[in-house]
Amino acid sequence: MNAPAFDVAVIGGGIHGVGVALVAAAAGYTVALLEQTELAAGTSSRSSKLIHGGLRYLERAELALVRESLRERETLLRIAPDLVHRRRFFVPVYRHSLRGRWWIGAGLALYALLGGFKAHTRFRIVPRTRWPEFDGLTTSGLTTVYQYTDAQADDAALTRAVMHSAQDLGAEFLCPARMTAGRIRSDVVELDYKHGEQSRCLRARVIVNAAGPWARRVADRFEPRLPMLPVENVQGAHLELPGPIEQGCYYLEVPEDRRAVFVTPWRNDRALVGTTENIFEGDPADAAVLGKEKEYLLSVYRHYFPHRSTEILDAWAGLRVLPSTRGQAFRRSRETLLPVDRETAPRALSILGGKLTGYRATADKVMAILKPSLADKTRKADTRTLKLKPE
Ligand SMILES: Cc1cc2nc3c(=O)[nH]c(=O)nc-3n(C[C@H](O)[C@H](O)[C@H](O)COP(=O)(O)OP(=O)(O)OC[C@H]3O[C@@H](n4cnc5c(N)ncnc54)[C@H](O)[C@@H]3O)c2cc1C
Repeated sequence: MNAPAFDVAVIGGGIHGVGVALVAAAAGYTVALLEQTELAAGTSSRSSKLIHGGLRYLERAELALVRESLRERETLLRIAPDLVHRRRFFVPVYRHSLRGRWWIGAGLALYALLGGFKAHTRFRIVPRTRWPEFDGLTTSGLTTVYQYTDAQADDAALTRAVMHSAQDLGAEFLCPARMTAGRIRSDVVELDYKHGEQSRCLRARVIVNAAGPWARRVADRFEPRLPMLPVENVQGAHLELPGPIEQGCYYLEVPEDRRAVFVTPWRNDRALVGTTENIFEGDPADAAVLGKEKEYLLSVYRHYFPHRSTEILDAWAGLRVLPSTRGQAFRRSRETLLPVDRETAPRALSILGGKLTGYRATADKVMAILKPSLADKTRKADTRTLKLKPE
């Protein structure tokens, strides 16, 4: 009577939850994923939409993270060619820039090295004669423009495609399904959830808390409570502004605090400008762009693109889960944390932090940690080569 209906139950239909559902289904496990609202309702539709190694993470010497992300970027370009697109990135260096020409050049050389020195990892200095093509970028004080290659994707579409592929391999998608309580028994984990007005229960061998910024709330609903690490939700805002960005993505240094802000093409006719970093406390569903974030992003945009329209067509905010430290959010590690209920044969695991780009590698790690609690199954597919199915 207590036999689990599923091997793996996943709470949260963001990129991490669907990634785990796909990796688990591909490994032959029975999987159920519960999402309270809709796929990508949380951070996974509010990212900067870059599929990248993260050039700026080199400043914090997160070499392993950058190498893994670059490898995953290449995997995603292969398995999701309709969703993930290579983009040219430009790093303009001005007389006032803190990060000078040699610093950026050295960073790009290291980035290329971590990317395996393949053809697409090459970077170069753009000749001055091409500067006028740069979508209205100011040339006042400009000394050098570097060009390198990374990638971009519609994060929500990618999330839906991963879930679609997981369902193709037999995973069940329950939505709307809000997990309300969980109980870890000796041989099974029980999850209560609300499907509309109805209360239901499912049983699984192991559960994955992939609730992103809601992860702490979900952990607290378990009996016994799931272990948590000291993390905070940090809000990042984006603005959508009119006019196409035709040449590629711009990696800009904010004059006042030296953070990086991206201006990227979005939906053919818009510029996407982001992001910010502000500690967020409260219900993640209430995350909304603050007036000061709009001002901050608009002032960077005006500084670098003085002749482009600053009419805000849309603005949205997402929440990163980052380790709590006293330092600026910008300088905190982006490594994914995976606390478990117990070291040997864990039955419950939470995913804290992470990147859109690295979701597949994260899901692989999650399933490797949970494997001792699961029976051996016959693999159905390899997620490194399985093509994702767009809707
Ligand atoms: C501003 C910003 C920019 C970023 N830019 C990039 C980038 O350019 N490239 C990159 O690689 N990464 C980027 N990231 C990181 C990346 O977006 C996140 O790591 C990733 O989207 C997190 O996904 P997730 O699945 O963990 O969380 P989420 O996407 O938030 O998913 C959690 C899901 O859980 C659901 N949920 C919560 N509680 C329950 C419950 N009780 N029952 C059922 N469901 C529940 C929610 O509805 C939600 O859909 C960025 C992050 C931010 C904030």
